[in-house]
Amino acid sequence: MFTSTKQELLNPAQISQTLGINPNNIKRLTGEGYLEVKKQVSFKNGVMQLFNSTQVQALIPAIPRIKQAWERYDNYHQGGNKMAQARANRHQSYQDKVNRKEQFLNSLNELPQELHEILKVAYYLYYLNHYAKAGSSYLYDLKETVLRTLVKNYYQRTDWLKISFIEGTNKILLCPKCRAKANNQRLSYLEYLDKTGGCFKCTKEYKYYSLYEFTICWQDYRFCFHTPYSTAKRWFNKQALPPCKECPEREGAYAFGRAIYASEAKAVELIEVIDVLQNFLALFNIEPLIDT
Ligand SMILES: [Zn+2]
Repeated sequence: MFTSTKQELLNPAQISQTLGINPNNIKRLTGEGYLEVKKQVSFKNGVMQLFNSTQVQALIPAIPRIKQAWERYDNYHQGGNKMAQARANRHQSYQDKVNRKEQFLNSLNELPQELHEILKVAYYLYYLNHYAKAGSSYLYDLKETVLRTLVKNYYQRTDWLKISFIEGTNKILLCPKCRAKANNQRLSYLEYLDKTGGCFKCTKEYKYYSLYEFTICWQDYRFCFHTPYSTAKRWFNKQALPPCKECPEREGAYAFGRAIYASEAKAVELIEVIDVLQNFLALFNIEPLIDT
């Protein structure tokens, strides 16, 4: 729980838990004037907004009414039947998702302690990635910290962690002359680049689109994560650089031979995700990045 000094401000994970909403709906509450951003915390990969705890608490009784209003608005704008159908599906599958999560976590109990811990971390990291992609990019800081910790402590010491380097193209920024030429030819900069490849004066950011691919794999379990080359290149010794691979795999999670659905996120709350990952990091004396 919160310590007394931090009681005044809540982050999106804490608000989602308090109000029983998805982190994306916090933007909606802000947009509609129910919540006010009190502070912004800058992470490497984005900004985390903080809100006044008293304001959040005061909203609790109003949430059912607000959710109904959202429902009416969405029905009106997106077609009632479709929305009712989607709601029914969501409701039906919620228990299903909770069951699957339990099934997954229980299945880990039979494994050796280290693998149990690592596959659990991979499972929650998959959901963290999902939340980050859905608009909370500051969460990539936590993803990077977890992957860096795995590299530091397990890379080349275990069978279950494999890392590859996937070379991407360079990013090219057109020089002023080329930009003018593109304008003259009524081409977008991208179209001009495709057509000409730019000139020697255009700026090139070497390997800009390259990445490292992390797979955590054990029997029927398989997780795949990506991190930009520029982020992870310093994590490796020059003598132990990951091997090159031609083509990236999709980021994702597989258990019992099937892909884990991104929509399962409703059964895996953001605050739980952050908690599990930060507890793992604490084993390596890494301080929490986000309050829970
Ligand atoms: Zn140029």
